[in-house]
Amino acid sequence: MFSIFNTLTTKKAEFIPINKEDIRIYFCGPTVYNELHIGNYRAALVADLLSKTLKGIYPKVTFVSNITDIDDKIIKEASKQSCSINELTQKYYKKFMNDADILGISKPDLQPFATDYVDEMIDYIQTLLKNNSAYEISGNVLFEVNKFSNYGCLSGRCIEEQDSGARVKIEDYKKNPNDFTLWKPSLANEPGWESPWGYGRPGWHLECSVMSESVLGVPFDIHGGGNDLKFPHHDNEIAQTCGFHNSSDPTCFAKYWVHNGFLNLANEKMSKSLGNVVYIDDLLKEFKGNEIRLALLSTHYRQPIPWSLNLLKQAASVARKISRFTSSHTTKSKFFPGSNIGKAILDDLNTPKALAIMQSLITNPKKFDINQEISTFRYIFEGSKQDLSLSKEDQDKINQLIKLRLKARENGDYQTADKIRDELNKMNVSIKDKNGKTEWEIL
Ligand SMILES: [Zn+2]
Repeated sequence: MFSIFNTLTTKKAEFIPINKEDIRIYFCGPTVYNELHIGNYRAALVADLLSKTLKGIYPKVTFVSNITDIDDKIIKEASKQSCSINELTQKYYKKFMNDADILGISKPDLQPFATDYVDEMIDYIQTLLKNNSAYEISGNVLFEVNKFSNYGCLSGRCIEEQDSGARVKIEDYKKNPNDFTLWKPSLANEPGWESPWGYGRPGWHLECSVMSESVLGVPFDIHGGGNDLKFPHHDNEIAQTCGFHNSSDPTCFAKYWVHNGFLNLANEKMSKSLGNVVYIDDLLKEFKGNEIRLALLSTHYRQPIPWSLNLLKQAASVARKISRFTSSHTTKSKFFPGSNIGKAILDDLNTPKALAIMQSLITNPKKFDINQEISTFRYIFEGSKQDLSLSKEDQDKINQLIKLRLKARENGDYQTADKIRDELNKMNVSIKDKNGKTEWEIL
């Protein structure tokens, strides 16, 4: 049994799939216009953790996470860097995927790009207009929040509350300050698409409703993202999908909503505007990918992470201690739901508890079925692309040893070749000879 905290009901409950043969989940992905910071990677890691856990217990799981490659921020940054938005988004998309790899975060099964779904978005807006959920005004199309009786049901905010707190000047064309953009006009020199409302581009909230439904169908099982997306982004997504389907029931979109906590620096939120962001490249100067991953997973996903150098140092020391212990075990990465670590993960992804179990296993190994515990630990904590979480030095060393071994074999010196294989095994590297080539993987 897997239980998960559902933001929509504000309760932890057993996860009951819509179809247990075909689990479908969607997480909001990044807007790729600048270098992402460690807090952004926490969201990607939590999505990966949930997807991996479900894949450990169900036969088929489709994990979708989008890439926002059209947005006002993207247009502004591309013009600053004098490049096309495509050049800009490709550059930062590649950087994002590379850094995600270093942290052992798997690529989603499907990763739709917003600009590939503009036709679907235009069709979607037409249905919203027809359903009387939206209105057009001078090239803008807006969603009318007063037409959706459950507006704010996810974050628990109601429209009146938002009115009184609104500090931003209401654009005069809006009927309600919470009405949000589905389509906006683009200037002739800005990226855009032809539409029934003129040359323009889609609003950010719209793309997730459209892509998740296009790719997965609705309702799907779990929708997730960072805490900061609850309002307005996710409430707006719910409003759109309900408006599209003429429903007031948010579960016509997704049954469960999962949100991860922030990453805080010295008791304040890390943010670009505060100028206190932390980048993966800087962390990698001192720590390995798997150590950063362990640091991120050492706090429960719903809690804020008190990010500090001390936390990273502790995580690195724990990672080394665990790897010294597990290195003598050749067991593969696999999820065992019945293991103690597996049970902790199945209880609302309790990674700190799983980590504590792993540490107590080192001091008292007899208490456990060690192989199952280590396999499950590897599955969750070591990530999928462990070779990439090795330092450049380690990778070079492995490749060097493999070259030496091949040479020894070519010269018929099998004793040396075997010695090198043993040395690699000691480093937790398993090798396989295939068609004159040697493949390797971390055990
Ligand atoms: Zn989204």
